[in-house]
Amino acid sequence: MISPRDELLTQDILRLKKEKSAYIIAHYYQREEVQALADFVGDSYAMAIAAKESPYDVILVAGVDFMAETAAILCPGKIVLTPEPAATCPMANTITVNDVLAYKKKHPESIVVCYVNTPAEIKAVSDVCCTSSNAVKIINRLPENAGIFFIPDQYLGSYLAKKLGRSIDLFSASCPTHANIEKEHLLRLKEQFPHAQVLVHPECHPEIVDLADYAGSTKGILDYATQSEGKSFIIGTECGILYSLQKNNPDKTFILASEELICPNMKSITLDKVRYSLEKLETRVTVPEEIRAKAALALERMIEYAS
Ligand code: SF4
Repeated sequence: MISPRDELLTQDILRLKKEKSAYIIAHYYQREEVQALADFVGDSYAMAIAAKESPYDVILVAGVDFMAETAAILCPGKIVLTPEPAATCPMANTITVNDVLAYKKKHPESIVVCYVNTPAEIKAVSDVCCTSSNAVKIINRLPENAGIFFIPDQYLGSYLAKKLGRSIDLFSASCPTHANIEKEHLLRLKEQFPHAQVLVHPECHPEIVDLADYAGSTKGILDYATQSEGKSFIIGTECGILYSLQKNNPDKTFILASEELICPNMKSITLDKVRYSLEKLETRVTVPEEIRAKAALALERMIEYAS
């Protein structure tokens, strides 16, 4: 439910958006009021494509830093704005360029598959990017006998290895938000709601994924819930997805697998910050050209393999 003050802010933002010819792209984990005014809401893959195809010169990305960087990498001629430059992804920041280079030195024939949740300099030393919605497709495009180093999310990587029956070398990072689902709590919810299907993101711990009826990206979870004849679902991903789930399925019930499924970085973007960002055209996100050009190769390869 949008508050009267949020309504005023929303009007300001819509006016500024028109004045500045700006396009607002938001992630499903954003606050409800930010998703409600965005021109486009999607997962990180869809956001990248929306930025690349946008005819607007100013793109405001309501998401964490790697999402805005991805837009800046794919749209070098455009102004890319973030309303909160400190909004970051703790998982993305655990891996360093040296970690990747050290692996490549030991395994020069292997292919580095880089989850899009990484800074630009990590993408620049990787071979191909992926998101949770296209990772299966991307890995299936790689030679069958290729060694693969999947970075940085160990749980998404192990999920892919199991699903595809391939050996994949993993880095040891994981998402602190998805880690908040406790197995015992989920088992209790399943008992309490015996007809509810469990839909989770593969960033969850494997023991949570094993209890799920479906594991997939945020878009995958949305599509599954919308197409399913089921009427209730236990959701194992960040709480922001409830906005789109409920909007698309007003007759269905969604129960969060944990009260702690809140990403504080995603939630640090507020309407006040979006308005300020559009008004001042700040903070602009740029990537040094040498890094941008190399990171663009890994991202463009993802887009080619996923389409
Ligand atoms: S939900 Fe997890 S993976 Fe996504 S931005 Fe937040 S910390 Fe990173």
